[in-house]
Amino acid sequence: MTLNKILLLSISISIAVPFIQAASSDIPQDSQIEQQVESVLSKMTLEEKVGQMTELVIDVLGEFVDGEFRLDEAKLHEAVAVYKVGSFLNAPGPVAQDRDKWNEVISRIQAVSMETIGIPCIYGLDQNHGTTYTLGGILFPQNINIGASFNPELAYEAARVTAYETRAGNCPWTYSPTVDITRDPRWSRVWENFGEDCLVNTVMGSTAVRGFQGDDPNHIPADRIATSVKHYMGYSHARTGKDRTPAYIPISELREKCFVPFKACVEAGALTIMVNSGSVNGLPVHANRELLTGWLKEDLGWDGMLITDWADINNLYTREHIAANKKEAIRIAINAGIDMTMEPYDLDYCTLLKELVQEGEVPMNRIDDAVRRVLRLKFRLGLFERPNTLKEDYPLFGSKEHALLALRAAEESEILLKNKNGILPLSQGKKILLTGPNANSMRCLNGGWSYSWQGHLTDRFAGQYNTIYEALCNKFGNDNVRLEQGVTYKPEGGYAEENEPEIEKAVAAARNVDVIIACIGENSYCETPGNLSDLAISANQRRLVKALASTGKPIVLILNGGRPRIISDIEPLASAVINILLPGNFGGDALANILAGDTNPSARMPYTYPRNQAELTTYDYRVSEEMDKMEGAYDYDAVISVQWPFGYGLSYTTFEYSNFRVDSDSFVAEDELRFSVDVTNTGTRAGKEAVMLFSSDLVASLTPENRRLRAFKKVGLQPNETQTITLSIKGSDLAFVGADGKWILEQGDFRMQCGNQLLNVKCRETHKWKTPNK
Ligand code: BGC
Repeated sequence: MTLNKILLLSISISIAVPFIQAASSDIPQDSQIEQQVESVLSKMTLEEKVGQMTELVIDVLGEFVDGEFRLDEAKLHEAVAVYKVGSFLNAPGPVAQDRDKWNEVISRIQAVSMETIGIPCIYGLDQNHGTTYTLGGILFPQNINIGASFNPELAYEAARVTAYETRAGNCPWTYSPTVDITRDPRWSRVWENFGEDCLVNTVMGSTAVRGFQGDDPNHIPADRIATSVKHYMGYSHARTGKDRTPAYIPISELREKCFVPFKACVEAGALTIMVNSGSVNGLPVHANRELLTGWLKEDLGWDGMLITDWADINNLYTREHIAANKKEAIRIAINAGIDMTMEPYDLDYCTLLKELVQEGEVPMNRIDDAVRRVLRLKFRLGLFERPNTLKEDYPLFGSKEHALLALRAAEESEILLKNKNGILPLSQGKKILLTGPNANSMRCLNGGWSYSWQGHLTDRFAGQYNTIYEALCNKFGNDNVRLEQGVTYKPEGGYAEENEPEIEKAVAAARNVDVIIACIGENSYCETPGNLSDLAISANQRRLVKALASTGKPIVLILNGGRPRIISDIEPLASAVINILLPGNFGGDALANILAGDTNPSARMPYTYPRNQAELTTYDYRVSEEMDKMEGAYDYDAVISVQWPFGYGLSYTTFEYSNFRVDSDSFVAEDELRFSVDVTNTGTRAGKEAVMLFSSDLVASLTPENRRLRAFKKVGLQPNETQTITLSIKGSDLAFVGADGKWILEQGDFRMQCGNQLLNVKCRETHKWKTPNK
């Protein structure tokens, strides 16, 4: 469908902080903690301060002996007692460990840390969609699925459970949530975020922060953990589409779309933030004092801790060439506002930073500011009083209760995109051919950050969960489900590596069945190893679907991957399509429930699914990016065709919208606008509907966007039930950032849309903000 058709479809700083002049944020500091921070800081040596600003990877502290990671006491002593290193990260390997191993490793580091420097260590893990690195814990759907659910309660619950289960392994800190808005389908980290929209990332990200940390960021309870919101910011906009390559972002977009989710997470109390590995507008973000110290710490009055991403100070000279050597790189990054460095391997970082301070290249008040932030984090987490948490105190670890939440999240996040002639749900007794490379793999269901960084070992660890094949056998009976994959991935190989196809076997098997379920997509990957050069789904997989179509049997396509791979030549061959994204360990069961009709799908597209390689866009494109043919001699048409738009998704029932209204049809910036709409379930099944409110600024001083999502709410409706849904926004929510980088709300008309309903509201008065933020 073309884009124009889409519209119709569907904390004050209470003590003086010398280095920065902080404004006020909404979250007050705890004066007792601030006094404790000052007291500890006043007794610290320069070595201790520099050590607290250092984070090393756990592998430097030990080695694997007979397959088991063992701490080396001499290395531990050198790092913690001699160099005073204050933080460690990652799973050894990196491979998930059980709670006993985590308790052994972290409690030993804590013991040495408390004995020798009297300051607890902070351990951090990428528990990115559940307990990535804690064996036996729950893996939820990836964030892209949570975005697709349009249900913030799931973001909260997944984060709350992940925090609890992470503490069960004695770890108090995670590098989550990720709120990079995903603007380019080629990027290898699309799936780590909540989708392409700013509001969805803002709501889901800030809700996840509350789920992880609880409601009082000054006192994180023993069943919650600190967050590190990442990757600040603009990471997703790489011009090449490849990971960690330069982004060029207009100032308006940077402030209006990239910054807003981080600001919301800060307001929700995020204790730490991780910096974007790449560069924005030519300057590596790790060197950007304006963005790090200016926008985040000064403008927001944020008193949290900024951590680098992996080896990113080193990258300032090895990759970015803005420093001649490591020492220069350290000077640039620390002066720009970095508080803790994910080094991650070398202790020379400590030596070089110490020299820079002694030489006057890094001011002592910058060091004190950074260390205050580190200490504040450790006090807020209660680590001084309680350096360890014990697994016995977390009886719900890996429980059925937690598993049911993950199942529900998977069910609410698998998107029904096509259902010709109501072929779904499938009735019992049908003979099914299950085919395609994603049909029988826990690795495919989970994606990266699952038991390992690349997720390639998942099938070793997730044997107790059901692949799609196993879930379908459970649901439809072993005798009714025949597995013949036709195309398979190389076990534990790179994400694109496939074996020699056996398409004819699958075609032969199709002859005796009623329906073909073809599970296609990608294998797991993460970061740079997930770069691609062709957005189309693999040639083998396309050949498989085409060959199966020649049998005349109806095909249900299951899309399973981290990003939208182009399928425009095979989509017409399918009667039904479900995009399950990366639904986690319960994703196969959720799919079986949907296919059988036991669950009514309710997810919506969290990104725009492209139809063609050279037509990549997002739903909030500028209106002039799409034009029908102009009159006259020249043809200036620019029509973009997409496979499925952002926000699209079907249900087994139907919903009708009516009576769209607003309490006042004109407004100024401070007003609240209450929009209401009646939504009726006009079908025969109970279902959930994500009600979305979009705005279009009809005339603006910057070419306006086609549409922007302004509010959403997920509601459940019984057949024939009507509910009045109210979505409130502030007049100021309709402001945008102009070419000068300042927020402005302009007088004039806005078209509002909810379902197929439209109405106009008028802004009576232009308002320009003098402050950087609204
Ligand atoms: C990734 C981060 C991650 C960090 C620590 C980096 O390579 O970009 O997202 O948190 O490693 O594992």
